[in-house]
Order: sequence, then structure tokens, then C-alpha cells
Amino acid sequence: MTAPTADPRLKGRSVKRIAFSEATIARRVRELGAEITAAYPDGDLLVLGLLKGSFVFLADLVRQIERPLQVDFLVASSYGDAMVSSGKVNLVYDPETKLEGKHILLVEDIVDSGRTLQQLLVLLGKRQPRSLEICALLHKHIATELHHPTKFLGFDAPNEFLVGYGLDHAEDFRHVPYVASLQ
Ligand code: 5GP
Ligand code: MG
Repeated sequence: MTAPTADPRLKGRSVKRIAFSEATIARRVRELGAEITAAYPDGDLLVLGLLKGSFVFLADLVRQIERPLQVDFLVASSYGDAMVSSGKVNLVYDPETKLEGKHILLVEDIVDSGRTLQQLLVLLGKRQPRSLEICALLHKHIATELHHPTKFLGFDAPNEFLVGYGLDHAEDFRHVPYVASLQ
């Protein structure tokens, strides 16, 4: 890997701290894949990624799940044009796949307030899935609004603003292969 401070992906910014390296993430994603494989011995599994942040994690994760599955994505908007969350989640893109009777695994990049996930769980729960669980790469553990355990979790996240491995700052840095905080 390029020395992080000189990483040309960072638009001239420098890394304050690499929170999770590529190798650390890859190791944990393999473990999560094995956990998920073991947790679903039967039934139809639909892995539902929350765009855009989950796309890198999801792509790596599904390749470590050694059982049949399908993939779809959700786009939820909770902010609209406002700078602060309105607290109300709208589905901008709704999966065409039927959820009824399936194991739904909702994949999120990072849980912060948990507001988005909490509202999605309520919305998706109404469609009679066989089960509904969360897999998040990162969790800040200040989630007061999520009344549901994150069954599959990559890492506890430091309370810093993180970028990379799908996480952006103003749409930049999603392709950075590690998770870092910037100066
Ligand atoms: P919540 O609904 O849990 O408050 O919001 C979670 C969403 O906020 C994540 O999906 C992500 O888009 C964004 N978010 C929260 N913390 C961070 C962070 O440290 N870095 C980045 N890039 N996004 C974050
Ligand atoms: Mg997000």
C-alpha cells in the first residue's frame, strides 16, 4: 500500500490515523462471512445493502458467505435538503425483490445515531420477512435510537469522522481501501 500520508486517493489531505487497515478489514470480513454462513442453515437469504456507504463492504462480504443468497440494495433518504436529520426516513429506491418469507440481512456501513436503521427495520418488518437482522461494518455505540441488536458487527468505531471502504466525505474517499480519520 502507498504510504497513507502520500496516498494520491486523498486529494491532498493527510491521514490522522488509520483506524482499520486493509488487512484487518479483510480478516474480519472473512470471519463475518463464516458467522453469517453458520447463522443461516436454511431458507432464502436476501442481503440488502444500504446505499451508498455499504457497497464496498457488501461486495467483499457476500463473497465470504458460503451458501446461496441474493443481493439487492436500498436507498433511504433521511436528510432531504436539510443539514440535520428530519428523523423521517423515505425509501428512494425500494427493492423489487419480494421480502416475504425470506431471511433479510440489512448491511450498513456505520451505525451512528441508529435512526436510519431503526426506521428501516420498522418499514421492512411490515413485509413479513422470515427474519430481519443487521450487519454493520462499524458501530459508534452512541446509537440511542436503534432498539435492535446489531447481530453481525465488524468493529467498534472510535467516535471520529471516518472515511474509506465505502464511507465518504462529500462523496470523496469511498474507494480508499482502508478506514481512516483525516487531518
Ligand atoms: P445514523 O442514522 O446511524 O445516525 O447514521 C448513519 C449514517 O451516517 C451512516 O450510514 C453514514 O452515512 C453516516 N455516518 C455516521 N458516522 C459516520 C462517519 O464517521 N463517517 C462517515 N463518512 N459517515 C458517517
Ligand atoms: Mg450511510
